[in-house]
Amino acid sequence: MTGTDFVSLCDACNVTLKITSQVARGFYYCVNGRHYIALSSKLSPSKRSFVGWHEFAHFLQNYYERKTIAAFSSVLPDKSSEKLADVFAMIALRPDQIKITGPVDFVRMLMETDPD
Ligand SMILES: [Zn+2]
Repeated sequence: MTGTDFVSLCDACNVTLKITSQVARGFYYCVNGRHYIALSSKLSPSKRSFVGWHEFAHFLQNYYERKTIAAFSSVLPDKSSEKLADVFAMIALRPDQIKITGPVDFVRMLMETDPD
């Protein structure tokens, strides 16, 4: 998927996307039931799309509860959701590279992940 796909997906999911120089990598946060993804303008385009998909995975993980959280990229103590977010980003960007050629119900898998 491309950067344009990512922007349309965020639009469709009502996730506000911000590209800013204020952050080193990126993060997902949820305030008052509204979702935001901030991405650093300092990253290379390929790195930024990886971080973008990683943060989008956090949005999916948080979707049902909509609690106020800030999932800072690579600072979150919850290792399993971090790993899953990285895997999600890899699949979104290069499914062929990790030998996935057919459809994967990965979104469902992510949303069923219990952070505890
Ligand atoms: Zn993360």
